[in-house]
Amino acid sequence: MSAPDIHAIAARRVHGLPADWQPRIYGCLDRDLGFYLRGAVPIGTYSRGPRKGRPKWAPLGQLERVVITADEVKQARICWENETGLCSHCGGSGQQVKSTGINGTTYRECGACSGTGKALHLRGVG
Ligand SMILES: [Zn+2]
Repeated sequence: MSAPDIHAIAARRVHGLPADWQPRIYGCLDRDLGFYLRGAVPIGTYSRGPRKGRPKWAPLGQLERVVITADEVKQARICWENETGLCSHCGGSGQQVKSTGINGTTYRECGACSGTGKALHLRGVG
């Protein structure tokens, strides 16, 4: 399982977006005011070609722009971890992608959960 897209989860929760709404562009607002996402619900999936099975999108100009605050992202992260019991930084794998390149993908131990894959606040103190 790969790490969940917490920003997308937060945007769906806060703005009441459908479950298949997906962000395509991410950005930060000035002065730490939060984040903005531009996304949409896919208009279908490719039925042929190299992108077969991948979502198909409307033109970028038609994407919906939503804003979420850092607090809303934090809330979404806590909710996701409560529901799954997994570390939201690595999706429970205990590993994070270190780099991707011609030699494949390399991983390192997830710093948020020290490689346990467990949600931080569920591990208890000490
Ligand atoms: Zn982790």
